[in-house]
Amino acid sequence: MNVPVTGAAVQAEPSFRHSVDMMFNHAVGLMDLPSGLKEKIRVCNATYTVRFGVRLRGQIQTFTGYRAIHSEHMEPVKGGIRYAMGVNQDEVEALAALMTYKCALVEAPFGGSKGGLRIDPRHYEEHELESITRRFAYELIKRDLIHPSQNVPAPDMGTGEREMAWIADQYARIHTTDINARACVTGKPLNAGGIHGRVEATGRGVQYALREFFRHPEDMAAAGLDGGLAGKRIIVQGLGNVGYHAAKFLSEEDGALITGVIEHDGGVFDPSGIDVDSLRSWISDNGGVKDYPHAQVIAEGALLLEEPCDILVPAALEGTIHLGNAERVQAPLIIEAANGPVTAGADEILRRRGKVIIPDLYANAGGVTVSYFEWVKNLSHIRFGRMQRRQEEARHQLVVDEMERIVGAMGNGTTLSDSFKLKYLRGADELELVRSGLDDTMRVAYQSMREVWHRRADVPDLRIAAYITAISRVAESYRAKGL
Ligand code: NAD
Repeated sequence: MNVPVTGAAVQAEPSFRHSVDMMFNHAVGLMDLPSGLKEKIRVCNATYTVRFGVRLRGQIQTFTGYRAIHSEHMEPVKGGIRYAMGVNQDEVEALAALMTYKCALVEAPFGGSKGGLRIDPRHYEEHELESITRRFAYELIKRDLIHPSQNVPAPDMGTGEREMAWIADQYARIHTTDINARACVTGKPLNAGGIHGRVEATGRGVQYALREFFRHPEDMAAAGLDGGLAGKRIIVQGLGNVGYHAAKFLSEEDGALITGVIEHDGGVFDPSGIDVDSLRSWISDNGGVKDYPHAQVIAEGALLLEEPCDILVPAALEGTIHLGNAERVQAPLIIEAANGPVTAGADEILRRRGKVIIPDLYANAGGVTVSYFEWVKNLSHIRFGRMQRRQEEARHQLVVDEMERIVGAMGNGTTLSDSFKLKYLRGADELELVRSGLDDTMRVAYQSMREVWHRRADVPDLRIAAYITAISRVAESYRAKGL
């Protein structure tokens, strides 16, 4: 079987942006909105292409980058910056549109945007990447395409904390008196204005999404699943930021078995469960899964997408489940940790085959949710929990002291357990507050989406329900603005 796992569309497959448009059109076809408003919401407002030169290794190299702004019904607009060779206008516009719907679905007060640089970061030294990133950031900053109140990027494929710190510093160098400069980008390291829990946020959100799904027996039944996450067999595609954290938390905290991992150079399979940390450190030391000694290594990693398992987690790139392999996917439940991993054509095939898909605009919204918390933290210039934590502890201490006094007076030797006191007395720190805010966001968003799915007979799945929920919120914003 020769099924390529690439972002490229197979024959007769619509482009990524066209795929997103088709899903949008399906949803708005079921909504009562004026056609002019539908069109206004669908189109991408603007896409900027920047070409710039950087002197590297004794000569000038020219790079091409993009920043697409899909919808400014709320500002700032928000969306990651991706470094990959496949970056193009169609892709950033599709991703920017997804950001609009994602932010609306999880009630993050942003419009949608996305950026990308056509580059393979593995081919450059760190100092070269810094020069390229700073120059790209400069091109965007001088056009207000990076700005705390207008356009706030974040990490995506091929970028992380390091690149975000360079971008924030570049902005601060240009806007030396802007007190809110740090809010110009999220996903920064802690020492540069980041927030606890941002690195893990998207994978953590995938975990919370699955936990919420498994709280609803009716939804599990739609996928032919029962029980909880413990013991469920999971195959993950892409062990990067999102895939690694999702796999780690689901195996370590929920007792799921990671039976397969697909990476860019092959796959790893072990029905008794893969040690996620051991595989991750092998990949970072060796550049891929090749020769991993603790599980079966499969050269044609894409074949693992078709292996029996309970949950498939595509967490690499778009278009990996397409017309060419959708008929052979066996997992009853697919959670789209990546953006656009299932093409519009594959989506129809999977729906017909009774598969349940937890859609990207919901499943990977943990990243933008915690980015929202980081942006608020930067604008308020104070760490979450700093004012309340010790006060909360002092009040809890009062309650414990009083309970101990009453229990002591009863004189039957009963006391409060140490483990209770330890948990109860500790005030919440920033990480706990971030996780709590993320958990709440993922639960509430899932519930609003499934309510539409179950209430309306004409809504075929969670994806269309998610689009309807998001589009109706964007439409409300436009109406409120008088458009
Ligand atoms: P990343 O660069 O950290 O990881 C991507 C991983 O996929 C890497 O390990 C890479 O080797 C692997 N990969 C590349 N090509 C592959 C292939 N053909 N087959 C299998 N694996 C392959 O990227 P990330 O930040 O984890 O993003 C992954 C996906 O999640 C993207 O679609 C991105 O848009 C989406 N996403 C990321 C975030 C975030 O916060 N980072 C937020 C929302 C959505």
